[in-house]
Amino acid sequence: MFDALSDKLQATLSDVRARGTLTEDDINKAMREIRLALLEADVNFKVVKSFTANVKERALGADVLGQLNPGQQVVKIVSDELTSLMGGAAAGVSFSPRPPTVILMAGLQGSGKTTATAKLARHLREQNGSSVAVAACDVYRPAAVDQLVKVGAQAGATVYEQGTDRDPVDIAGWALDRAKQEGKDVLIVDTSGRLHVDERLMDELVRIRKVVRPHTILLVVDAMTGQDAVNVAEQFAQAVQFDGVVMTKLDGDARGGAALSVKAVTGKPILFASTGEKLDQFERFHPDRMAQRILG
Ligand code: GDP
Repeated sequence: MFDALSDKLQATLSDVRARGTLTEDDINKAMREIRLALLEADVNFKVVKSFTANVKERALGADVLGQLNPGQQVVKIVSDELTSLMGGAAAGVSFSPRPPTVILMAGLQGSGKTTATAKLARHLREQNGSSVAVAACDVYRPAAVDQLVKVGAQAGATVYEQGTDRDPVDIAGWALDRAKQEGKDVLIVDTSGRLHVDERLMDELVRIRKVVRPHTILLVVDAMTGQDAVNVAEQFAQAVQFDGVVMTKLDGDARGGAALSVKAVTGKPILFASTGEKLDQFERFHPDRMAQRILG
């Protein structure tokens, strides 16, 4: 994951660290290298610009240059800024004081939404001991309902489904009633995605949102699609206010641009990371750990 970026940043920072003293020119050179490495990792160019500007300002502002271990301090600043770029402190989903907590899953087709629905169900069951139901409201993608029945059961969730002939908005409302009757702690609603963001997709999401009044809306995006993922997230942010991102397929994402850009572009943090097809390859996203991993 993010190997090239990691190698380049580590090389730049070890150069910086190796110096006894740092001049402003040294900082400028390091910033140029960091800028290039981030751009090559497909990080949004505006994000790159403000990132390097922040690091430089802090490095010069903290009067790092005159200090004993200036290189070490620059490394710390880069690490802090990478962490804050990805959202700062790790956040999870918050629970409604009146169960069931309803979580709405949104995203494009193929982003990994149905898989993430089951993974999140498993995660919440294991980490919080919650009783979880999932609702199969992706009635357009062939086999999505069957898939959720299968992976939902593997995840230990109750699966609410009514086939593919009913309006997904009705299925969502029916599922919420059942979750209430059955005393579930959490209901996760899988919605349909399309190949592109379009009006019908958004309209349906808005209608489902009205019916189930979700506590949290999660947007599922495929890290492997790089800046496209960020553009999709931006479009969703304009149409339906989501609360956080589930970044999928990080295992196949060699560059890291989406993971590093999405919070800065949309204002919404990555809450969960999916790193494989298996149900347990899913975890809370920790910006600080990710920054440490990148910087080695
Ligand atoms: P949906 O159309 O958004 O519901 O997408 P699916 O959940 O069906 O996922 C699409 C494909 O991506 C499936 O083959 C999944 O197994 C695969 N997939 C989902 N998440 C991940 C992940 O984190 N890593 C990898 N490598 N594959 C994933």
